Amino acid sequence: MTFRCEYCKKDFKLERTIAAHMCVNKKRYLQKDEQYVKLGLQFFNDWHRIAMGSNSKKLRGVYEEPILWCLCKIWVICAGS
Ligand SMILES: [Zn+2]
Repeated sequence: MTFRCEYCKKDFKLERTIAAHMCVNKKRYLQKDEQYVKLGLQFFNDWHRIAMGSNSKKLRGVYEEPILWCLCKIWVICAGS
């Protein structure tokens, strides 16, 4: 029996190993309640709605979108100045 990380699809033999495992996608998903991520997601959803004609907020994979994290970084830079 193996344990699969739902974020990066990597398999682990031990449950404690996957519990300690931290990949980029998992880390980003766990940051989803941070204020700067919420604001970045709001910008991303606005962009997605205008560019693609649909709202991406319900897509679980949205936290794997590189452009979302670029928007979050831009927001942090703007907020820090
Ligand atoms: Zn993972």
